[in-house]
Amino acid sequence: MEELKRIWKKVSEELSKEISAVSYDSWIKPITPEEIDETKITLKVPFSVNKNMIMTKYFSLIESCLESVTSHKFDIEVVVDDAGSEHSEVDPITVENTLNPKYTFSSFVVGNNNNLAYVASLAVAERPAKTYNPLFLYGGSGLGKTHLMQAIGNYYLENYPKKKVLYTTSEKFTYELVTAIREKTNQAFRNKYRRVDLLLIDDVQFFANKELAQEEFFHTFNALFEKDKQIVLTCDRLPSEIPQLEERLKTRFNSGLLADVQPPDYETRMAILKSKIQSEYLSVNDEIVEFIADSIKSNVRDLEGAVKRILVYAGIKRTNEISMELATAALRDILSTQPRRIVTAALIINEVERYFRLSKGSLVSKKRSKEIALPRQVGMYICRELLDDPSFPKIGEEFGGRDHTTAMHNVKKIAEDIETDQELANMVREIISNIKKG
Ligand code: ADP
Ligand code: MG
Repeated sequence: MEELKRIWKKVSEELSKEISAVSYDSWIKPITPEEIDETKITLKVPFSVNKNMIMTKYFSLIESCLESVTSHKFDIEVVVDDAGSEHSEVDPITVENTLNPKYTFSSFVVGNNNNLAYVASLAVAERPAKTYNPLFLYGGSGLGKTHLMQAIGNYYLENYPKKKVLYTTSEKFTYELVTAIREKTNQAFRNKYRRVDLLLIDDVQFFANKELAQEEFFHTFNALFEKDKQIVLTCDRLPSEIPQLEERLKTRFNSGLLADVQPPDYETRMAILKSKIQSEYLSVNDEIVEFIADSIKSNVRDLEGAVKRILVYAGIKRTNEISMELATAALRDILSTQPRRIVTAALIINEVERYFRLSKGSLVSKKRSKEIALPRQVGMYICRELLDDPSFPKIGEEFGGRDHTTAMHNVKKIAEDIETDQELANMVREIISNIKKG
């Protein structure tokens, strides 16, 4: 055995003269000489990527160096150490937990906009590498990708506290790689990434253009995938839409499940706001929550920002009771930057027709049939509720030039009926919510 070690040391020295330092560190250094007899030398490597690389690129070089050192032609066998990371002699790696404990499944509000991503993430957290591998979460900024990704990590660690979970961004990965190359700590870098049980890489769009990082990540991905370790990725777009990303990485990213997150609809915005407000122990009435949900549509981060601002204002005013006035003041700056959806009579008419499955133009037509009467009354009532200028003459005019007394009569009728008719009240509420959803 000592003999074998001595031989291998010399061979390594020879090899180091022949290839670049990076290649040496990546592919030669991980080799351990395992066995020797008269005809054959067995070399052990940690992963099959290493073996592949050696077989395709370095085999004949190793062969000839071995021959020059020993003056003997050995057969070389390369074996993969299938004992895996846990049992190998390499130093156990410690991965510090960089997950935000707040990002959990229970603090995540599920809606139509993120349902698939949520279900897939939960499945992956419960059975890593058994369902979707990789899981690729994509969608616009502030829509909960990082939250879901870290929820997977938190959930998994809760069930398996000994497992190694590594969360990082593609930018940090790239930065660490560059540092590792400079400081010649490639192997430590590799060990760190290739010996985890769950790898979470956030914002992979930043791999664009970074060839070295892409190359390294490709091998990291393969090493983990082969060992049945779960990989989760997030991105602001689909793999196919990332510019300057190697084809082979696109193929890998596409090979699992792609799940999108969309901007939250009105109901989900309401639910998110309520959950955030509750977690801050604030007391805010529904009217104000609706006001925020109406005003902020772009993403969840902004909704959260709104609640935080209100919290600050409440602190300044030393109150827990949030008035409309306080909310408006707190949100003034944010609101001015939000695209405002202007509700018009045409929009309302359109939505009412859609809701009642009437053909376009029915409500403004001269027809007076029974099926149209109720929808028309509802439409006028909603105009009175939502329009900036809800005068009766204006409403009458919008509904095919009807008289203002007709408009007044219709609005009054619905206003009275919804007091007693629950079904009608629900219907009106639903239509209004559809209109506000935008
Ligand atoms: P992304 O990574 O997609 O840009 P984040 O995951 O950072 O977005 O989400 C932004 C903020 O919004 C975070 O504080 C997150 O907790 C919160 N958030 C996003 N989606 C939800 C949701 N469905 N329920 C609760 N909070 C959410
Ligand atoms: Mg993010």
